Amino acid sequence: MTVYPILWDSGVYLPDQGLWLDPRQPRPRAVISHAHSDHVAAHPLAYATPATQRLVSHRRPSLGSVRGVPYGEPIALERCRLTFFPAGHVLGSAQTLVETEFGRVLYTGDLKTRTGFTSAPATPVPADVLVLESTFGKPHYRFPDAAEVIADMVSWCRSVLDCRATPVLLGYSLGKGQEILSALAAEGLSIALHPSLFGVTEVYRELGCEFPAYQSLAQPDGKPTVVITPPSARRNGLKALVGEFKTAALTGWAMDRSLKDRLEVDAVFPLSDHADFEELCCYAEQVDAAMTYTVLGFDEELAMHLRRRGLRAKALTDVDQLRLF
Ligand SMILES: [Zn+2]
Repeated sequence: MTVYPILWDSGVYLPDQGLWLDPRQPRPRAVISHAHSDHVAAHPLAYATPATQRLVSHRRPSLGSVRGVPYGEPIALERCRLTFFPAGHVLGSAQTLVETEFGRVLYTGDLKTRTGFTSAPATPVPADVLVLESTFGKPHYRFPDAAEVIADMVSWCRSVLDCRATPVLLGYSLGKGQEILSALAAEGLSIALHPSLFGVTEVYRELGCEFPAYQSLAQPDGKPTVVITPPSARRNGLKALVGEFKTAALTGWAMDRSLKDRLEVDAVFPLSDHADFEELCCYAEQVDAAMTYTVLGFDEELAMHLRRRGLRAKALTDVDQLRLF
């Protein structure tokens, strides 16, 4: 098989096309797969879905030019054609298909194939080369059914409320926070959001997502019964606002037994916006590319498991970066 010119350079780099996919540093021409800050940099020219474009402009108003490209609508660039497909990770998140004279490269970006509340799940896109994210690329990351996790989270909230304390749920401002908020829709609780999460949720609403009633923790209208806040937010002012409280982290890393102690929280629930190990493997099998490159997270371990399952797979960082020049 001919070696497809594809490199790792703090992001995926297609040298023949002069195109970077999610580079950490500013590059002349790049794709931003979704609006999480570790995927966004100030590129002179960037492509993203319209929802990602809007979320990026909310969080980084001073950023350079981002061109909105809707899902499923190919655009012609120099020496390639680029199409976005839903990635299921957060609102606006995209898989990127780059069609070149060498064949089709599919870059998943952060991926989820399970159905969430706020973004369409990823479905396999035929490709010759697959570049697959590997965040949870170890076999013990097998997430339970999301409906069970949500039921456990809700019953934990109820038990905290029964003890006259306030449940504080920890999730990122973009994506997880809105999933938690949606998961509480049927509970009829008064929900307050950390101001950063409130701002992003307002943009989600503007983009067509529906949520149960919520308020900003910065301007609470009476004492909220449940608070959702990013894990990084300081919690030392919370007691004055909500009285006694208990914290729970919602993350795929909850599959690691030590997480609860490491985060100093009262409970953990494995609610993730990423694919788990089995989803990643099934996804790679369904795409069935001639070559699968794994990136980020447990890339080498996932590549090894994919090889055991009969695929040609390698961590992209293991590709001889010099041989291609
Ligand atoms: Zn992400």
